[in-house]
Amino acid sequence: MELLRPESAEAASAALGNGSVALAGGTELVPLLRDGIVRAEKLVELRDVVPRGFDGTRIGAGTTLAELEVDPQIPQALREACSLAASPQLRSMSTLGGNLLQATRCWYWRLNFPCYLHGGDVCHAKAGQHREHAIFGSDRCASAHPSDPAAALLALGARLHTTARELPLSELYRLPTDDNRDVTALEPGELILELDVPQPEASVYLKAMERRKWSFALVGVAAARFADGVRLALAGVAPVPWALSSPDALEQATPLPGTAYKVDIARALIRRAVEAVGAPRSA
Ligand SMILES: Cc1cc2nc3c(=O)[nH]c(=O)nc-3n(C[C@H](O)[C@H](O)[C@H](O)COP(=O)(O)OP(=O)(O)OC[C@H]3O[C@@H](n4cnc5c(N)ncnc54)[C@H](O)[C@@H]3O)c2cc1C
Ligand code: SF4
Repeated sequence: MELLRPESAEAASAALGNGSVALAGGTELVPLLRDGIVRAEKLVELRDVVPRGFDGTRIGAGTTLAELEVDPQIPQALREACSLAASPQLRSMSTLGGNLLQATRCWYWRLNFPCYLHGGDVCHAKAGQHREHAIFGSDRCASAHPSDPAAALLALGARLHTTARELPLSELYRLPTDDNRDVTALEPGELILELDVPQPEASVYLKAMERRKWSFALVGVAAARFADGVRLALAGVAPVPWALSSPDALEQATPLPGTAYKVDIARALIRRAVEAVGAPRSA
């Protein structure tokens, strides 16, 4: 396999496609290549072309989770989401951009079952093992989005700058459809370069997991308080990070038999998160 080291983001973007895949920290991509789920002839290294670090409210997509979790300039919800992800070693390699684009942890998908998300007709998890799966948005695929930072950034109202455009984080994600099984809306060759992350009055990220460390979210809840209200977003509950218009919107969940317990966890975490951020100052 060839490793390309382009000199600019535009050159990296142009080099993608036709068997070339973007490589950031590699913590997600390398296992997928090893297991034959992603196939590539060339890897396009992003390290020198995607911005790293932060300046005010702007964060480079090449910044690692380890760098984000310790900086007091970063809103608390994002710091906590980063610090509760994976392990210290993985966080020191994992970039924010790669984290937002990580694939589902659904084992049917990871074991290459020909399921709906892989282009087939059936969601094997719905009829089989689905304890860690969705409570929202599972019409076609019942996977649970694994990114903690994505939920925090959704509650914070982050915007992305890519090689092609600027868009709200909420528009990065889409539920898979019969015509398009992707769960992100990036165009081929489009790279995430930077994020604008508004400073809230207060924010928090709470995560329920099987073990205290190194475990994906059963449910993650981000709350961010702004002058006009509190925004909520959830990880681990739908194929994409899930925004909730209010705590009551949780009651519209459509859990599977094996995921009903997640609704109770989400309800408890939402209550705690809303208490933690308090009411808007103008309220
Ligand atoms: C054991 C384990 C436990 C984990 N636990 C958690 C957890 O609890 N919570 C959590 O949130 N995450 C968790 N993760 C996920 C981890 O945070 C991600 O693997 C990591 O953030 C990916 O970043 P990376 O830089 O290594 O991306 P890579 O592996 O290099 O890339 C991932 C994907 O993103 C693409 N990509 C990368 N950067 C860009 C960019 N700038 N623009 C466009 N495409 C890009 C790549 O082409 C690839 O498809 C865990 C991972 C492992 C292996
Ligand atoms: S939940 Fe999604 S990824 Fe898992 S088997 Fe069903 S369709 Fe495939």
